[in-house]
Amino acid sequence: MTLVTNSPVWRPYTQHALQPGAIKIARAEGCWLEAEDGGRFLDAISSWWVITHGHRRPEITRAIKDQAELLDQIIFAGFTHEPAESLARRLVEITPEGLDYVFYSDSGSTCVEVAIKMALGYWRNRGETRARIVALEHGYHGDTIGTMSTGARSPFNASYEPLLFDVARIPFPDEGREQECFDALEAACKAGAAAFVAEPLILGAGGMLVYSASNLREMKNICARNGVLFVADEVMTGFGRTGTLFACEQAGITPDIACYAKGLTGGVLPLAVTMCGKEIFDAHLSDDRARAFFHSSSYTANPIACAAALANLDIWEHGGAREAVAKLCAMQAERIARFESDSRFINVRRLGTITALDLATPGRGYLASIGLDLLRFFNARGLLLRPLGQTIYVLPPYCIEPEELDLLYAAIDEAAAEFRG
Ligand SMILES: *Cc1c(COP(=O)(O)O)cnc(C)c1O
Repeated sequence: MTLVTNSPVWRPYTQHALQPGAIKIARAEGCWLEAEDGGRFLDAISSWWVITHGHRRPEITRAIKDQAELLDQIIFAGFTHEPAESLARRLVEITPEGLDYVFYSDSGSTCVEVAIKMALGYWRNRGETRARIVALEHGYHGDTIGTMSTGARSPFNASYEPLLFDVARIPFPDEGREQECFDALEAACKAGAAAFVAEPLILGAGGMLVYSASNLREMKNICARNGVLFVADEVMTGFGRTGTLFACEQAGITPDIACYAKGLTGGVLPLAVTMCGKEIFDAHLSDDRARAFFHSSSYTANPIACAAALANLDIWEHGGAREAVAKLCAMQAERIARFESDSRFINVRRLGTITALDLATPGRGYLASIGLDLLRFFNARGLLLRPLGQTIYVLPPYCIEPEELDLLYAAIDEAAAEFRG
């Protein structure tokens, strides 16, 4: 495995003193990354949760090429274009009923930041001073100041703590702790919160922690009863990961504001949307310019990214995505089952296409050195698995084949033997 070192590149979430090198990838196809030196890696985490159907899915590649020939980038205030218009109409159609407006941006962090700003603008324009955000313990919503504030405090954001705003944090609805969670949410709502921000059904970066659809529904009900906006961060869960197109579908709820990013373009280009209902849009509608929604990204609704997203929606509509997801859910269920009674693992879980399990070793937490050791162990076997501390999870592109999944679970079994306490 040849590594790139002596590079001016500063990589994300990387301690360069411990991980000085990076593997140089030249090409990707389906579930595989091909390194410059010929090595191959099975991309079992969808290149950090973005690639949904597989790398270089031809329909998406084609749409990008065709769009690039026509229109590259234009200002999106006062001007529009067909890819953005079509995509917005189609997103309104396929997302939960009532999400009727689409605000474009370009990353998961940004679309959640936009959601928080929408919520605050909504209350201010209605003449109420509500600014408190409620969030779930262990949540993750991005790496900007606003989204770090909303997310869990951890070693990742300790340096920035002085700038982070305080939020009302409520317990994760673990089995047996649901009531504690609901009571805390109810109390925060009654204290006049502006919005509750949560990842529906599964907290990703917090350690792939799963909770039930009925708990999600109850949290939404509590917000609704108290007139507090419910913001669903579907950045990771959106576009099939949880087995349905969107996680909120499983609870039969419509969030007041929904955030989608990662899988929106099939994971190929950066694009994000924040969607909301008429009430929130209308609160910003006025002949007073000061009540407008003040947010813009330079690349708002980039036409090429919108074209990729339209091709992605076509794959969902008639390109076999639903079938691929159903097949993957079944294959994952079958493979994770044998670890349930394996005492080397704890908290063995699955939600839709995602499986996760924790190595039953001491030294918990993301920075526990076992995380890096595991990463190296898997990389050396040509597998891109990137454990969160001692939580190993499999979150693959939907095109993964049964034999490829078998490789992953065999390596997880081997890792358990190798890293046993
Ligand atoms: C990844 C993620 C984000 C941040 O998305 P970026 O595109 O990396 O900014 C926000 N929320 C959730 C739930 C995520 O998984």
